[in-house]
Amino acid sequence: MTLTAGVVAVQGDVSEHADAIERAAAAYGEDSEVHEIRTAGTVPDCDVLLLPGGESTTISRQLQREGIAEEIVDHVDAGKPLLATCAGLIVASADAQDDRVDALNLVDVTVERNAFGRQKDSFEAPLDVTGLDEPFPAVFIRAPVIAEVYEDVEVLAEWDGQPVAVRDGPVVGTSFHPELTEDSRIHDLAFFESVEA
Ligand code: GLN
Repeated sequence: MTLTAGVVAVQGDVSEHADAIERAAAAYGEDSEVHEIRTAGTVPDCDVLLLPGGESTTISRQLQREGIAEEIVDHVDAGKPLLATCAGLIVASADAQDDRVDALNLVDVTVERNAFGRQKDSFEAPLDVTGLDEPFPAVFIRAPVIAEVYEDVEVLAEWDGQPVAVRDGPVVGTSFHPELTEDSRIHDLAFFESVEA
């Protein structure tokens, strides 16, 4: 089977995510076709979606303006996988605690932007992630804190006592950027493990 993936390309590391999806697919012996999503109309053709980091206010505005936001909501309502990273997680959350972000309510968590402890800028940390045998090298860049986790949300990883990776049904959300190393196990976890389930 060929996996059709969509990477929202308003901002963020689009080619890095596309590479990670291709690597994860290849490890499963599957072909993949990755579309860059800039306008409405492509999301309905995608088996899996990726909402990258960047600046959540800008991403949110563009998704609403282009009519992509409601397509992403329909995708998740249909039970199809979404990986939302950093600013993408802020946009996908139930509450971004910022009026400029239209939270899509796809992951039942409250987030706080740019609030990761004293390490406000960037840092890398080896994370123990549920489902992975070895620690994942996680890169955090002005990362959001997941401040509240509601019912039915599984915490997949914590750092410094805070959840930094969660799963809510078909959606995996991370505070960090899993595309910035050669390690594509988070893409794998979000897409292939749930596609197979
Ligand atoms: N600081 C950004 C925001 O709050 C998120 C940063 C990122 O995606 N790396 O929107």
